[in-house]
Amino acid sequence: MRQTLVAGNWKMNGSLDANRQLLDGIKAGVAEGVSAKVVVCPPAIYIPQAADMLTGSPVSWGGQNLSQEKAGAFTGEISADMLTDLKCEYVIVGHSERRALYGETDALIAEKFQAAQAAGLIPLLCVGELLEEREAGDTEAVVARQLDAVLDKVGIAAMAAGIIAYEPVWAIGTGKTATPQQAQDVHAFIRQRLAQSDAGVAEKVQILYGGSVKPDNAAELFAMADIDGGLIGGASLEAESFLAICRAG
Ligand code: PEP
Repeated sequence: MRQTLVAGNWKMNGSLDANRQLLDGIKAGVAEGVSAKVVVCPPAIYIPQAADMLTGSPVSWGGQNLSQEKAGAFTGEISADMLTDLKCEYVIVGHSERRALYGETDALIAEKFQAAQAAGLIPLLCVGELLEEREAGDTEAVVARQLDAVLDKVGIAAMAAGIIAYEPVWAIGTGKTATPQQAQDVHAFIRQRLAQSDAGVAEKVQILYGGSVKPDNAAELFAMADIDGGLIGGASLEAESFLAICRAG
């Protein structure tokens, strides 16, 4: 039985004051009882604040990105060891914004996945197709390519210690959610692709859905057989909406 996980990706949003309010709200709501595992991924500069406020609570925190390099002359970058130094448990890898806006390739993302795991972080690997790729009938080919790049690099056993997020790019921040069935079909495809290498790993890996998840659509998405929670952008910036999604898990 896979536990539901709900992770908030704050992207480049927040301030000390706004984060304090948001984290206080999330902590209070989670303390009232939520069965899902709850994770927040603030901008890196605010991770120390999240660590201070969340230590001792059931809410975990993580990074939104990391360098594939261990240390050295890489101005502006943040290493896996720095994230673990701040007690991050998770890190998002290969978000579509990193792929589209910062030119991250499948090969680089595979390196980042490996670097995260080498430091003891749980990588949350994002995969998903563009609208034109879906319309051309290429969804499975795109997702398979993105997944295989990581699988080929780290091997199936390592995938067991990671998390996958299926995020159709056309649904991110657009208010257009994949229907539960559209999402389920791709989640089942991902699981079946992993099962070709190891059925046990495929059964165990959590596969989250991301793309305009809101309080009013979370429950039906999370009820699908292969959807094990969500990666939440916009709706994770407000405690009540994030908590409502966490409660749907
Ligand atoms: C995301 O950025 O991972 C995401 C799913 O964003 P949103 O929920 O705003 O679509």
